[in-house]
This record gives sequence, C-alpha cells and structure tokens, in this order.
Amino acid sequence: MSDCIFCKIRDGHVPARVVHRDELCFVLEDINPQAPTHLLVIPTEHIPTVNDLSVDHREVVGHLYLTAAKTARQRGIADSGYRLVMNTHRDAGQTVFHIHLHVLGGRPMEWPPG
Ligand code: C5P
Repeated sequence: MSDCIFCKIRDGHVPARVVHRDELCFVLEDINPQAPTHLLVIPTEHIPTVNDLSVDHREVVGHLYLTAAKTARQRGIADSGYRLVMNTHRDAGQTVFHIHLHVLGGRPMEWPPG
C-alpha cells in the first residue's frame, strides 16, 4: 500500500471528511482548519509536487480550480472571497507530497502570507 496519506484517504483506508468525489479529484475538510472554511481539492492521481506536473496534467489541474470555485460557491464564500494555495516543497511548507489545492475562506486574510 502507498504510504501517502491522501492516497490512503482516496482508497478509503484512512477516515476523512470527504465532501466530493469525481473521476479526477476529491475534496475533503482539512483536519486542522486555518479558516472557517478550509477544504483540500486533491487529484485522484498521486502527483507529488507541482514540479512533477507535465502537459498531460492540464485537464486535471484545470479541474482542481474549477472544483475549488464550485465548492466555494456551494459554501457561500465565493462573493466575499477566498484564497487558493498550493504549497510546493520545504520553503512553502508542503507537508503532504501529493498535490492539493487549499481553499481557505470565511474570514479576511492578510498579504503577504507568513
Ligand atoms: O500544504 P501542506 O502539504 O502543508 O498541507 C497539508 C494539509 O493536509 C494540512 O493543512 C493538513 O492539516 C492536511 N491534512 C489533513 N488530513 C490528514 C493529513 C493532513 O487534512 N490526514
């Protein structure tokens, strides 16, 4: 079995609050939310980092953003605003090496991020 936590969640081997699934991605509630709404949009395919993307991933990457926007609308944060973040490697604070789009909303946010 893969030792990737998101692959384990995808395959149902680790419990998580999965709120959406389709062929290309799944969405879960972050276990340690940093905002009133904190969702993770995760590709079904195991892709370790943004650096591992190729042109073959165009559809899935586009789908992650479309799913994030759709989910934000469903959660009622689309008009007030939200932040999409995909951390890449150590300096950005990536801890799970299976790419995921953070959807953060429900409170004002600062810029630049810490
Ligand atoms: O961008 P980064 O890799 O740090 O984000 C990983 C995210 O995955 C964290 O926000 C963490 O809370 C979340 N996570 C989760 N459920 C797990 C393990 C990690 O929601 N079982």
